[in-house]
Amino acid sequence: MGNCICVIAEFRGANFRRVTFEVASEGRRIADSLGIGLCAVAVGSGVAARAAELGRYGVDKVFVRDDPALENYLAETYVPIVAEAVKMCDPAAVILPASVDGRDLGARLGARLRVTLVQDCVQIACEGGKIRAKWPIFAGKCFAWSDWSEGTLPLMSCRPNIMDCLVPDESRQAEVVMLDLPVPEARSSVKSIDMDTSGKVELSEAEIIVSGGRGMKEAGNFVMLEELAQVLGAAVGASRAAVDSGWRPHSDQVGQTGKVVTPNLYIAVGISGAIQHLAGMGYSKYIVAVNKDPDAPIFSKADYGVVEDLFKFVPAFKEEVIKLKSTCS
Ligand SMILES: Cc1cc2nc3c(=O)[nH]c(=O)nc-3n(C[C@H](O)[C@H](O)[C@H](O)COP(=O)(O)OP(=O)(O)OC[C@H]3O[C@@H](n4cnc5c(N)ncnc54)[C@H](O)[C@@H]3O)c2cc1C
Repeated sequence: MGNCICVIAEFRGANFRRVTFEVASEGRRIADSLGIGLCAVAVGSGVAARAAELGRYGVDKVFVRDDPALENYLAETYVPIVAEAVKMCDPAAVILPASVDGRDLGARLGARLRVTLVQDCVQIACEGGKIRAKWPIFAGKCFAWSDWSEGTLPLMSCRPNIMDCLVPDESRQAEVVMLDLPVPEARSSVKSIDMDTSGKVELSEAEIIVSGGRGMKEAGNFVMLEELAQVLGAAVGASRAAVDSGWRPHSDQVGQTGKVVTPNLYIAVGISGAIQHLAGMGYSKYIVAVNKDPDAPIFSKADYGVVEDLFKFVPAFKEEVIKLKSTCS
């Protein structure tokens, strides 16, 4: 068995992404059950200044490579550095976020380290010193538990918003180890120039999502969902039907060929509940469906169902939320 559990941090702009704290917290739980330490690998531009903060979430030691050339994730520059840093940790298991970048990094890391990646885990267990991971198969229709044969390194990516974060211990700092690994020259023709988040809540990290489907009828009607989302502090998502119709950008698509989301609350408006859509949001904590068809499949997955014309329901619901918020404040 290796020396530690190793988590791969994700740093964007000037901060670690929340999913980093989730994988660190999960890493701490597993490290404690194995009686070993928790290391992190943090790569980025400006990451050194924040690295010690990972100690708040249970990290003992952070291996850092900080360079302006590492500002944006690029497989060619990140993967060789992360792979080398992981080897230095000599881990018993590696955990990283199943974010857009993390999925790409995880697959390439698995190939480089010659180990099997279990992608998009929703639970990790440690029994009798053996690590097992639960992950979705058949587009989320069912789940499989997997483990690794003796002597192989478990490599897992974890779905955002699933693993509970530890209560941060503000007094705890991680030891920072600066690495001097060379930054490989990016030879690909693709270059990250800018990151435009337009101030929107990132779908895969949102606590609440209001999603619209073909039932919205046209692009302009999404204003109604944006207004509701603003009142709720939510992000707006969409079904593929809405995206294919050109009503929303592909970055808003939830599902098998879109984003996998796990908010506390997912409100599906005018969405039928096709299996490919459920694959992307079926693990949300609470699902509310608004559909005028009482037989829509989404109701079999929903915790709360509203059988109503969405054009009547959404504005009325928004007004009720505003009233409720004003009485609470
Ligand atoms: C390989 C593959 C990958 C796919 N990937 C994805 C994916 O990532 N994400 C995804 O979403 N889909 C995906 N799909 C498509 C998926 O199969 C469905 O076609 C799609 O999800 C349907 O979108 P929808 O629910 O918005 O539309 P519909 O199925 O047409 O449903 C619209 C719903 O709106 C309701 N409605 C209509 N008017 C109103 C009203 N006024 N008030 C209330 N309710 C109303 C209707 O009753 C209906 O239930 C994929 C398909 C394939 C084959």
